[in-house]
Amino acid sequence: MTAGAAAADLKKARDILRGTFGHENFLGEQERVIAETLAGRDVLAVMPTGGGKSLCYQIPAILRAGAGVVVSPLIALMKDQVDALAQNEVRAAYWNSSLTQKKADEVCARFANGELDLFYVAPERLLSDFCLQMLRKNPPSLFAIDEAHCISQWGHDFRPDYLHLGKLAAEFPGVPRLALTATADARTREDIAEKLKMKQAREIVASFDRPNISYEIRPKRGAREQLMQFYREKHEGESGIVYCLTRRGAEETAERLEKEGVRALPYHAGMDSKTRADYQEKFKREEGIVIAATVAFGMGIDKPDVRFVAHINMPKNIESYYQETGRAGRDGLASEAVLFYGMDDVRALRKWISESRAPETVKKAERKKLDDFLLLCESTQCRRAQILAHFGEEYSAPCGNCDNCLNPPQMREATVAAQKFLSCVARACRGGRNFNAAHIADILLGKETERVNQFGHEKLSTFGIGGELRKAEWLALARRLISGGKMEADEERFGGLKLTAAAKPVLRGEETIAMRERAAPAKGEKAERKPSAQKYKLQEPLTAEESARFELLRAERSRLAQAQNVPPYVIFHDTTLLAMAREPPADEADFAQLPGVGAVKAKRYARPFLRVLRKTN
Ligand code: ADP
Ligand code: ZN
Repeated sequence: MTAGAAAADLKKARDILRGTFGHENFLGEQERVIAETLAGRDVLAVMPTGGGKSLCYQIPAILRAGAGVVVSPLIALMKDQVDALAQNEVRAAYWNSSLTQKKADEVCARFANGELDLFYVAPERLLSDFCLQMLRKNPPSLFAIDEAHCISQWGHDFRPDYLHLGKLAAEFPGVPRLALTATADARTREDIAEKLKMKQAREIVASFDRPNISYEIRPKRGAREQLMQFYREKHEGESGIVYCLTRRGAEETAERLEKEGVRALPYHAGMDSKTRADYQEKFKREEGIVIAATVAFGMGIDKPDVRFVAHINMPKNIESYYQETGRAGRDGLASEAVLFYGMDDVRALRKWISESRAPETVKKAERKKLDDFLLLCESTQCRRAQILAHFGEEYSAPCGNCDNCLNPPQMREATVAAQKFLSCVARACRGGRNFNAAHIADILLGKETERVNQFGHEKLSTFGIGGELRKAEWLALARRLISGGKMEADEERFGGLKLTAAAKPVLRGEETIAMRERAAPAKGEKAERKPSAQKYKLQEPLTAEESARFELLRAERSRLAQAQNVPPYVIFHDTTLLAMAREPPADEADFAQLPGVGAVKAKRYARPFLRVLRKTN
């Protein structure tokens, strides 16, 4: 393809972006993925949740001859996508087990007649003889394999049906294939390329930063109380997810929220599937519902306006945390992730790991991941920079949109305390017997536990010299010393401690150690956002007048959504309503310029929304 033809294609892609979908600019790597696909090349695109993966195949499918075939693992998501496309009069249909035979025949007939731009198919159907035959007769414009990590056993959502998708390479050699996933890790990525037989594919990896999500990680002091306060102060009336460790925790949290007048629903694997589907549907279709859930909740939620994700228990590692918090703010508007962590969670998770039937090497890796996560919780540095570093991405802190950047924690000198701890380890752990941090803390605190007496540790010179810190603080300090390489913990032997050479400079007073101040910021004290937060275009708060308008627009959107039996965000995202609330369009031409409003939606919805706006003036 010549450069001129490629430029012409991109111009067409842009016209569809604006005319059909109502967006002014491509997001992140969208343009590159689309250009490659339009040029007929295979692509493996790795983009975070909310990165805009759908348009990467929708636009080329509209532009290229034939229907784009989209493989997707989740029936509910297919329906949402088709509903959303229908709103823009893009010709799309899905074919899966939820259809009656009659409907299925109709859909296949539309495909065979070339009446579709997008054809969503469940993987097991796609590879049926019937379907392959149908595709041979009507070559598709492309194959999009959504949630491509489902093909990998390394991934977290392995689906055996996906394994056979590799066949497409030989069956349809001329049709470009586009594999999409939000799973970053390199091993899974390699596995995808291999199993799909697309090793030649362009790999396009977007940044995993989610700039519109702010991160806050706080020690737990009555997590449900803290949750209520967080909700009241910042998210009254908004949709959110509260993650809990156990089914009972999810039930009780939902009850508590209900009792406080919040519209809340539980969700966990112990509920029957009908109730679960029901609650998930409610969450999608109604405004302002809070779901209190276990990790069972998430796959298949593409609700764009989840304004907060709260964890009242720690997830098991940074990967899970990032995946779960990533469900906030898909629409790009400011959203919050808050985590209340505590040692009770760490104990519970450690117990789970110990009791699982996984091989010891796996358990060891899981313990390490939990420790890494705890370090992130206790850290005083930019959260975003650390999370992204964990995924191998460099980020120059401060981000200006996490608790540590917005409200730098008070530090206190802890060199002497560190010296006490290290010398206590040196004294207690000798002769091949190592003790863990809890035991060392007991010695420092002068506690004559059975174990302390058993080993005569009440006679050590360090016994009882550490009254300045509480036990939890000694343990936090120990973790800092371990992560800083001053000592090592033998996880296979109950966390037995051993000093390293790096402990010496601290013991000799040549290196100082600081730790996080105990006191949390006073209640009610609000952090000022740094100017750097502005680079994320976080929205300014609405004025009272704008906010009243926004509510009316929301109500109108709900009304229209109900009449068509679709979720409200299929009509318009909050982004569009916010733009309307701030600067009400005067007429249909104005309306068509709003973000997220393409030609069809302008025609369809200008009138009802303009009517609402006129009433408010
Ligand atoms: P993903 O599947 O990667 O999580 P989606 O395809 O669902 O992401 O898109 C995320 C959100 O971003 C959607 O709400 C979509 O409307 C919006 N979006 C996608 N592309 C653009 C764009 N170029 N400009 C503005 N918004 C976009
Ligand atoms: Zn930060």
